[in-house]
Amino acid sequence: MTNPLSRLPKVDRVLDHPALADSRWRRPILRRFVADTIADARASLLADPSAPVPDLDAVAEQVRDRVVDLDGPHPRRVLNATGVLLHTNLGRAPLSSAVEAAVAQAARYCDLELDLASGKRGSRMAALRPVLAALFEAEDIHVVNNGAAGLLLACTALGDPGGVVLSRGQHVEIGDSFRIADMAAAGGVPLHAVGSTNRTHLRDYEAAIDSAIERTGHGPALLWAHLSNFTQQGFVADVSLAKLGALAKARGVALIADLGSGSLGRGLPPGEPTATQYLEQGATVVSFSGDKLLGGPQAGILAGTREAIARCRRHPLARAMRPGKLAVAALHATAVAHARTGVGPELPLHRAIAISVESLEARGRALCAALGWPASCVRPNQATIGGGSLPGETLPSVALVPPATRAQSAADALRRGAPPMVGRVRDGLLWLDLRSLADVDDDELLACLRQLQ
Ligand SMILES: *Cc1c(COP(=O)(O)O)cnc(C)c1O
Repeated sequence: MTNPLSRLPKVDRVLDHPALADSRWRRPILRRFVADTIADARASLLADPSAPVPDLDAVAEQVRDRVVDLDGPHPRRVLNATGVLLHTNLGRAPLSSAVEAAVAQAARYCDLELDLASGKRGSRMAALRPVLAALFEAEDIHVVNNGAAGLLLACTALGDPGGVVLSRGQHVEIGDSFRIADMAAAGGVPLHAVGSTNRTHLRDYEAAIDSAIERTGHGPALLWAHLSNFTQQGFVADVSLAKLGALAKARGVALIADLGSGSLGRGLPPGEPTATQYLEQGATVVSFSGDKLLGGPQAGILAGTREAIARCRRHPLARAMRPGKLAVAALHATAVAHARTGVGPELPLHRAIAISVESLEARGRALCAALGWPASCVRPNQATIGGGSLPGETLPSVALVPPATRAQSAADALRRGAPPMVGRVRDGLLWLDLRSLADVDDDELLACLRQLQ
């Protein structure tokens, strides 16, 4: 019996296949896609030698499917019917049209680092700093690529050489297996864990400060991590941020608060801490995400004292983490939306949070009527802010549950549709949450849902 691998078609024969004749890719690029496709087929055959060997036509078809998929914009727009408003897999916050317009301006030549009045070199933070500093009532701010970069920069710039002290009760793991303690120490600053998983006391921090001074002659930076994605119950004790702030002040050490997400302002969502509160409680620097906390683009914001922010800004890592012009433009426009007067929420995320259940129900009924679905397809649902906000808490919402018989195949069809819609399959039903679809107009939604019929 011949080795099935030897029956796989050769790269040049696939390249000359008519299925690829009208490809818009240059030949060396296409050659690479063909080689990768054949390599994948080889790996599948090695894993399962009894599988059928794809012939020349089949491999050419596979390559064509791949190149069609690679063409066009990526990431593509999707309709978020998951009920998770800040879904990291779906790009977190949807940006407003005003923010999109600001990004479009910056996409061309722009005054990113030129002061137009004087003609001299300027700072890309020049317009961002005053708005964000006023918004968070901070002496100064600095902006980096994302929240993780903010945490790493603050810990590296302020924790050298005394190290960083973190309670074992705050060794949080966030999405995709990343851990706060690892990110804090990734710049080479030693991390000292204090306390136990369930209980940490002020004396634990005091002892860690003493021992760092003994070892290095310098006090460490204290790190406080917001438990943004879980809660602890039972025999637990933690030192409040305010108490830690008083300790940091008394001992002359920095206190870095990793807020991650939190209140979006205007009391939304209720009960979440704000960066301003953290500063008032004595944090030297607060680090958070521009998308999670402001409903803006991916960005990391450090808000804090003039001196601590200056140390962060001057650290070599700051140059490696600086945001690009598109992010600067989007963040500025987002900050302006937060800072403006006006009664109503201006950002799509604010609107999605603020919308009443009654109006979601009314919309659900109207959509069902237009689709010819029974009114029973409108069901109560629970949405979440996501992005690690409000662990365990949900926003009352409304979902459409299509009268389809097979929920998973309906979900697959919508996800592969144009535009793709992503819902959730639960209890054998497909749930399409209307709160996270707040930014989609009815016509588009109806066109999408009619694909199910
Ligand atoms: C999300 C999160 C981060 C990381 O922020 P990114 O913007 O995703 O890099 C850091 N700390 C906490 C507590 C978070 O929730």
